Amino acid sequence: MRITALAGGIGGARFLRGLLDHVHADPALRESQITIIGNTGDDITLFGLRVCPDLDTLMYTIGDGIEESQGWGRRNDTRTVQGELAAYGGQPQWFGLGDLDFATHIVRSQWLGQGLTLSEVTGRLAQRWGLAQRGVTLLPMSDEPVETHVVVDDQEAGEGATQAIHFQQWWVGMGAGVPARAFHAIGIDRARPAPGVLEAIRTADVVLLPPSNPVVSIGIVLSVPGVRDALRGTSAPVVAVSPIVGGAPVRGHADACLAALGLPTTPEAVAGLYADFLDGWLVAPGEEHRVGGGVRLRAVPLLMRERESAARLAGDALSLGVELRAERA
Ligand code: GDP
Ligand code: CA
Repeated sequence: MRITALAGGIGGARFLRGLLDHVHADPALRESQITIIGNTGDDITLFGLRVCPDLDTLMYTIGDGIEESQGWGRRNDTRTVQGELAAYGGQPQWFGLGDLDFATHIVRSQWLGQGLTLSEVTGRLAQRWGLAQRGVTLLPMSDEPVETHVVVDDQEAGEGATQAIHFQQWWVGMGAGVPARAFHAIGIDRARPAPGVLEAIRTADVVLLPPSNPVVSIGIVLSVPGVRDALRGTSAPVVAVSPIVGGAPVRGHADACLAALGLPTTPEAVAGLYADFLDGWLVAPGEEHRVGGGVRLRAVPLLMRERESAARLAGDALSLGVELRAERA
């Protein structure tokens, strides 16, 4: 089975680790090849180092190096370097960078500086985490830098004034505490899909959209020129999982992101963002809202409390994809 997934960080990574647990437990699926197209709109340069939070969360989670308690960063990491940077007055301090994690950003920045593309660098980093041995290929959505910026009110500049800040400053620095007026993916007009991205969508047996943030994770991947058309054109069924349960995101600030688009925090609104290519849609039991356009709806438990429930959820998504594929054949 060739499975292709679009993903952000924590929600995407937990779902995809569940997918791996699911396929590895089934002899008929064990040889599956999983290609993950990761969001790079969260990327940021800090202390001269290129940091790719979503790619790293995916890599550490699948490679079994993630700090489970926070969902990002290296397990049992320490903050010696960050403490020293603070002692010098180094900024910013609001973005957590562990000592082990620093090594990833240092070597990534070195390789990028030597002229390797982000795909090549990501491939090298993934070797250390044994992703290929697990049947996983991790691709950045694009090799061109794209950075999501957020338009917020600029209180100091006066009534009605706005300013654009980096996504991480809004999300991590401010805890999304001020309303987002709009999101802009800076660099997206020059971005091309990274090598292998469109092929992975076109040649997949099933395409999965984990319950990643529909606006600033999946939405940014979808805005890379060519990606949306590939999803519309692929013969593979596209199955997505709602990140919204009971009118709220399970984790994070997807509600604030949907509000910036003028949308309510509902599974229907999220499905609407995927309407032109969506074939299957998983919602929580009791939330079988009507979704138009011949989308096959299925209600299953959506909470990924531990690895087992994540594996069950991923298994449910894959089964729906396989079912839809069999009906087409
Ligand atoms: P980020 O880049 O680290 O913010 O992670 P993602 O974009 O991949 O995922 C964030 C989304 O995952 C949020 O909108 C959450 O609502 C969703 N999410 C997190 N945990 C769960 C869960 O257990 N079940 C479901 N259905 N969604 C979840
Ligand atoms: Ca992210």
